[in-house]
Amino acid sequence: MKTYSLALIPGDGIGVDVTNATMDVLNVAARRFGFALSPQSFPWSCEYYVETGAMMPEDGIETLRNFDAIYLGAVGWPDTVPDSVSLHGLLLPIRKAFMQYANIRPHRLLPKIEGPLKAEGFDILCIRENTEGEYAGAGGRVHQGTPNEVATEVSVFTRLGVERILRFAFEQARNRRGHLTSVTKSNAQKYSMVFWDEVTREIAEEYPDVTVSHMHIDAMAAKMVMTPQDLDVVVASNLFGDILTDLGAAIQGGLGLAASANISPDRANPSMFEPVHGSAPDIAGKNIANPIAAIWSGVMMLEHLGEATAAAAVLSAIETATGQGIGIRPGLNTTDEITTAIIAALEA
Ligand code: NAD
Repeated sequence: MKTYSLALIPGDGIGVDVTNATMDVLNVAARRFGFALSPQSFPWSCEYYVETGAMMPEDGIETLRNFDAIYLGAVGWPDTVPDSVSLHGLLLPIRKAFMQYANIRPHRLLPKIEGPLKAEGFDILCIRENTEGEYAGAGGRVHQGTPNEVATEVSVFTRLGVERILRFAFEQARNRRGHLTSVTKSNAQKYSMVFWDEVTREIAEEYPDVTVSHMHIDAMAAKMVMTPQDLDVVVASNLFGDILTDLGAAIQGGLGLAASANISPDRANPSMFEPVHGSAPDIAGKNIANPIAAIWSGVMMLEHLGEATAAAAVLSAIETATGQGIGIRPGLNTTDEITTAIIAALEA
């Protein structure tokens, strides 16, 4: 029987609850579709930082390298560890070390979920560059604590990085409805974003079957609210993609429904799957976190591992559950009730 090794990093807060829920569902899918999951859980989190002074051990990346995939719940506990420390100590190093340069986030309404918009028929795939750009980590602070203090945060756009994320996005568009919208701010940012636009035009020549639109990030934010149904695949830099996908989560009904995958396309390294949301300290420990975003991220993991039939069945079970009115509004059902309904639909 095919067995997939999974590194689980449940993390903090509701990250733990939604990881448990996801594994409960995926184990049922594995049994039903004839494969096995072999998970190993790592306690890397803000609690681990408080105990050890680091978000993960020094050999953490090497430890993860040989797994088939990594599944992460959510990391962050701002009361004890600054967010900049938890993010730069775990999530960002994993994305960069394993060249998970494509962050993919689907935005559409599941059955019976009423988003905040009038638009209903949207189906957007956001692709965010995940390793460089505004989050490259280049910069510094000088004269700290003096009136002359200076902080710089330098965006880094390489030809290699921009070409590969655009090719990835064009491939996705080719396999969907054939339209790609590239989002920049090239009127104001005249080096990096003009460069991105130029490379988009170059790569577009390799994909004559894909139509391309160029939009500025501000106009795109409005479009995602006014006419999201016109969008197919959207590609953006690290910061812009980060912001747009929270907007995407909002229009699909909330963070509890927004899934994501950090893909390392050449498959030399493991990819990582995680819901868009964070550790939600405000609802942690209350059994009311919606696990759908996390379970949908598990669907993306099964797809990546090559278990397309099982992935489709889990997604269909999620749709059956929301179609029955389960998990369609924050606080309507407990985490356990939503998980049980999805498992029941999967086993039916
Ligand atoms: P958050 O996503 O944790 O929560 C924002 C709001 O959405 C909260 O009101 C929360 O209750 C709600 N929410 C989130 N997920 C939900 C779910 N599954 N079901 C129901 N409601 C849900 O964002 P935040 O409050 O800005 O950040 C909290 C911590 O999480 C911070 O430390 C932050 O750095 C971290 N964070 C981590 C990740 C990650 O690990 N990928 C992502 C975002 C934020």
